[in-house]
Amino acid sequence: MKVTAAVVEEQHGPFIVRDVELDEPGPGEVLVRVAATGFCHTDGIARDGDMPFPLPGVLGHEGAGTVAAVGEGVTGLSEGQPVVIGWPWCGQCRNCLDGEPRYCLRLGELVIGGHRLDGPSALRTTEGSPLASHFFGQSSFATHSLTTANALVPIPAGLPVELMGPLACGLATGAGAVFNTARPQPGASLVVYGAGTVGLAAVMAARNTPATTIIAVDRHESRLRLATELGATHVVDASDTDAVQAVTEICGGPADFALECTGVVPVIRQAVDSVGMRGTCLLIGGAPAGAEFSVDHISTLWGKSIVGTLGGSDRSPRLIGALMDLYAAGRFPFDRLVEYFPLERISDAMEASYSGAVVKPVITMPQG
Ligand SMILES: [Zn+2]
Ligand SMILES: [Zn+2]
Repeated sequence: MKVTAAVVEEQHGPFIVRDVELDEPGPGEVLVRVAATGFCHTDGIARDGDMPFPLPGVLGHEGAGTVAAVGEGVTGLSEGQPVVIGWPWCGQCRNCLDGEPRYCLRLGELVIGGHRLDGPSALRTTEGSPLASHFFGQSSFATHSLTTANALVPIPAGLPVELMGPLACGLATGAGAVFNTARPQPGASLVVYGAGTVGLAAVMAARNTPATTIIAVDRHESRLRLATELGATHVVDASDTDAVQAVTEICGGPADFALECTGVVPVIRQAVDSVGMRGTCLLIGGAPAGAEFSVDHISTLWGKSIVGTLGGSDRSPRLIGALMDLYAAGRFPFDRLVEYFPLERISDAMEASYSGAVVKPVITMPQG
């Protein structure tokens, strides 16, 4: 079928909005009419080749919309059902069977293979030449996405469908790190490095825990202001302050948890240095491919944990479902981060994301 998509032809190339051919859903597959898709730094990283997704192809991995058609064997989903397109998982490997699908052993193929798991690409140009599909199992910078039924999370009635896509990646990543990995105890202190989508999600999530000190560190004053409005008890402007020293002063010693959401190597060191004995530093932000970091050895022996987390861990229905319920209850107001851009302005959305002007641009798809 003919659909409209933002195609990236080559590394660093622009997003070109054009008609392409998308397959009809086969067994286990679902066609989603996309309402809107969040723009995430990972899309930019893939476009620039730091994540080897084959090009030409279609990116986009924070999609939400309504079910347009289901393939053979799909149960529990019918046409018109609003859904978030969650992370893909194989459902058969050791980690998937263990209830940790974010760590699916076939994640690489699922996320950047450029085709169905064990199958061909679902996208072609109108002239019939191949385009890579299934970026994060969805390639949702398009009016339609062909995905698998096991990735979908139903959206409860009454919630704005076009807002929910970012819950699939950036927001789940930050919130899930707090809920599933940090799990702060009553009175805990927590410092979040980087007040972008992931970091602000962590701040909003921390506000739903018994942690009592929630510190946000960033270089943009506007983001620190937003962090305060969303639940940070303290903010540190890293452009003019030694963040580790500031954290130590605020907490009266090292923090219990540091959440590193920037992926900037010197900031990783600061995050590790912000926690002390039996403290935990969570590595959440993605650094460029091949990046390495070093830490002080002796102070790490002090029972310090340095833990990597991906996508917030957990299963999509539980984590994304909880975040939708918290949003509906006014306890996870992530709409404050969002600004909408129509598909033809996707390049402006990317620029706004890179410049920091908009925390979470969301691309709305032409309807009808
Ligand atoms: Zn798996
Ligand atoms: Zn993402």
